Amino acid sequence: MSETADKELSESARKLFAGPIEFLKSAPELKFLPDQDAPEIAFAGRSNVGKSSLLNALTNRKTLARTSNTPGRTQELNFFDVGQPVQLRLVDMPGYGFADAPKDLVKRWRNLVNNYLRGRSALKRALVLVDSRHGLKEVDREMMQMLDDAAISYHLVLTKGDKVKPSALGTLYETTLVEAAKHPAAHPSIFTTSSETGSGIAELRTAILEAATS
Ligand code: GDP
Repeated sequence: MSETADKELSESARKLFAGPIEFLKSAPELKFLPDQDAPEIAFAGRSNVGKSSLLNALTNRKTLARTSNTPGRTQELNFFDVGQPVQLRLVDMPGYGFADAPKDLVKRWRNLVNNYLRGRSALKRALVLVDSRHGLKEVDREMMQMLDDAAISYHLVLTKGDKVKPSALGTLYETTLVEAAKHPAAHPSIFTTSSETGSGIAELRTAILEAATS
């Protein structure tokens, strides 16, 4: 992309995310999914990875996405409309990787997420969030595998970048890049963000708009 087109896209993304953003609906089962009338970008990650904080930072809201990652709580996909008329839809997927989650809960999570990923032509990209303090864990690799199998292109996003030293963040970035390269559906660009300082947020907004419109 040329530098001018790049600047235009990031300006459009800034404006879009500064405009109207509304909660659309929750889908605890597939039959409650909204019509596929807008491109969707889905957010995945272990519980406590900073997914709600990232959604709030991206949308400049304090409480758009609420922390809802209590084991046993109803698991659902939450849809948020960005723009009016809607230009794209953010999808907050239920967190995974609870230390002692009951087996049936894990099974329900897998069914809901897998069925959504596999049958959704509106889904343009997923973001797999990874805590910068911990790096990729086995459960993240399973999520990546599910996306590879469903052929959904995804970006890895290193969250809470402010919590680790820049040198450690640089090393993590490099090792994560190497691992991403082994996954067929992993996008070669990885993002580093902090919902606390706002670093990387504008870049991620631009990538979301680009994925939704490409
Ligand atoms: P979720 O369970 O993935 O939705 O995670 P939350 O967004 O609720 O965040 C989990 C915890 O990490 C909360 O205490 C947040 O305040 C904290 N947190 C989230 N993002 C950041 C960040 O970018 N920097 C810092 N320092 N803390 C963060």
